[in-house]
Amino acid sequence: MRRAPGWRMIEPMTAIPRRQAIALIAGACAGAALAQDGVRGDVGRESRFTGLVSADQIELASTREYSQLKREATAKGVLAPDEHPQVVRLRAISQRLIPLAPAWNQRAANWRWEVNLIRQKTLNAFCMPGGKIAYFEGILARLQLSDDEVAMIMGHEMAHALREHAREQMGKTAATRVGAGLISALLGLGNLADTALNVGAQLLTLKFSREDESEADLIGLDLAARAGYDPRAGVTLWQKMMKAAEHAPPEFISTHPTGPTRIKEIEAALPKVQPLYAAAPKPPKVYGPPAPMPN
Ligand SMILES: [Zn+2]
Repeated sequence: MRRAPGWRMIEPMTAIPRRQAIALIAGACAGAALAQDGVRGDVGRESRFTGLVSADQIELASTREYSQLKREATAKGVLAPDEHPQVVRLRAISQRLIPLAPAWNQRAANWRWEVNLIRQKTLNAFCMPGGKIAYFEGILARLQLSDDEVAMIMGHEMAHALREHAREQMGKTAATRVGAGLISALLGLGNLADTALNVGAQLLTLKFSREDESEADLIGLDLAARAGYDPRAGVTLWQKMMKAAEHAPPEFISTHPTGPTRIKEIEAALPKVQPLYAAAPKPPKVYGPPAPMPN
């Protein structure tokens, strides 16, 4: 299901100084913030690069890419129908998380959210900008994900979209390109609009910075906990992910490096989100993972 490779992401030339806030995860003083604040005091302002590429452009590219993905999946007979139990399950979980999204990004109130299941062994899931979510059956079946763990992934992926990490990456790339290719830009050989429209093909393989990953972990925990999903699943999820990586590096791991540091950060954030979970109405426990799949 990988898209044909377009041009590769160019690494930004300079690190982006942003958000000392993330450092708070390590030494979080849960008592200082109000319980209902969750992690809201811990994430910083949006990147200064996001302004270079418009949110509209990214969301348009994302919608096109998602439609294309669904068309391809339909043609291959792997797009699960609406009545598939795991589609019902994923959408039920998403319905608890989506109402919480606009608190992180007002645009999300107008997104046309979609949640689909692709019946392939791939160990992957994503939420593209504009709220286009897909899970591959492999991640549900091979990791035997509980509802709580599904919600952790969903919250994490939604957080990337809500914090516009793809747009930020695009902005960095565009900035690098302007710096390196000013002459070609002046000659009309390339422009930022083209760059933005090319993003569609990369949205599925985009690799975010470690900082963005930490932020998505935090916000994902917060979203899932408020939706009534046990944030401790953030720990078991990444343990399962690490174990799966022993066999073969799963697709999800290639964009989400995992290890003891990631799990320690999540553990350190738990005291902030446990009160949210404790206070949240709990979802009905009627869903289970699909039949196991061999690796
Ligand atoms: Zn991520």
